Amino acid sequence: MSKDSIPLVHPSLGERELAAVAEVFASGWPAGQGPRGKALEALLAERYGVGDAVAVSNCGAALHLAMLALGVEPGDEVIVADYTFPAPAHAVRYVGATPVFADVRADTGTVDPAAVAALIGPRTVGIIAVDTLGMPADYTELMALAGAHGLFVVEDAACAVGATYQGRPAGSLAPVACLSFHGRKGATSGEGGALLAADPVIGADARLRSSFGIGSIYDQAQVVGLPIPVFTDIGYNYKLSDIAAAILQVQLDRVDELLQRRNKAAAAYAELLGDDDLLTLPHVPADRTHAWQSYLVTLDPRVDRAGLAAALRAQGIGCGQGAWATHLQPVYRSDRSCPVSADLFARNLAIPMHAELTEDQVEQVAHTLRAELKNNLRAS
Ligand SMILES: *Cc1c(COP(=O)(O)O)cnc(C)c1O
Repeated sequence: MSKDSIPLVHPSLGERELAAVAEVFASGWPAGQGPRGKALEALLAERYGVGDAVAVSNCGAALHLAMLALGVEPGDEVIVADYTFPAPAHAVRYVGATPVFADVRADTGTVDPAAVAALIGPRTVGIIAVDTLGMPADYTELMALAGAHGLFVVEDAACAVGATYQGRPAGSLAPVACLSFHGRKGATSGEGGALLAADPVIGADARLRSSFGIGSIYDQAQVVGLPIPVFTDIGYNYKLSDIAAAILQVQLDRVDELLQRRNKAAAAYAELLGDDDLLTLPHVPADRTHAWQSYLVTLDPRVDRAGLAAALRAQGIGCGQGAWATHLQPVYRSDRSCPVSADLFARNLAIPMHAELTEDQVEQVAHTLRAELKNNLRAS
């Protein structure tokens, strides 16, 4: 149990999800790629209007499968958004290629198309954009750049289920997108993910590699006779269990309801914190909507973030630093600098955001934050 009385994040899992799990237990097929997994994939393909959807064990696996299906190889460079959970850069490294870190917009934290343009070179094969903590990136500009240079674009929509960009859902903004259903995202099965592809050939490649390089064992069990499948690829085991798939069918049905509750909390924070000079609130451009996987405020440079965070936690209020400046992580330490990302990494603070927050809790967070901002100014 966390000692936080107002946790930073909290999943919204209840009776409906439990009932769906009970049905899977009774069905006798808890493993992956069974009836629930197929139903989830159909639901995702329809929801996002894509050629194929592949249910996988997590978003990190989906990103790895995307790199494999797109043919990324050692020697290739892939431009990645710097300010994020560092999974995109990891995926590039899984296939032996080189991640090239692109700086982000100061107002949205999403990858800056001008920074991407400046990094395109002879070895660049593609771009992984991130819908940062639920905020869609600039896909009009990114797709135009990719078109002009023959690059692929992958959308890391791990945090963005429910967000929109120019009226289209996050997850359908690039030809390949990856979703996460981790316990700290807006829709969850504990662990889980999906790869969405406009081109069914990409989807089929990812599905095969997600199950050791052979087709669905469930399908084979339904066949009369004894056809023996052959292995043509060194695949992985990245399948999503039918237990998780059943939970996700319910969660997807609840996306709008859960998002509405997070929107309400975000609006209340804006109202309660908007006039405080010691922080900057999230900016949502008019052509997109935020999924509010997290709510990050950018602290004035005079605020001692560590002291503030310790004071909030001591009063039972969960908080964290938000995302990472990937290029500053020891595993990636490089000469390249992304000053905007580094600045957000140093000054951002995530405060409680989830669908279970009550109005009182939001008020308590805002009230305590305002008081502790003043108590935690650096001596200058
Ligand atoms: C959470 C997250 C991931 C990883 O998702 P998993 O499902 O835990 O693998 C990848 N990318 C981003 C941007 C994330 O926030």
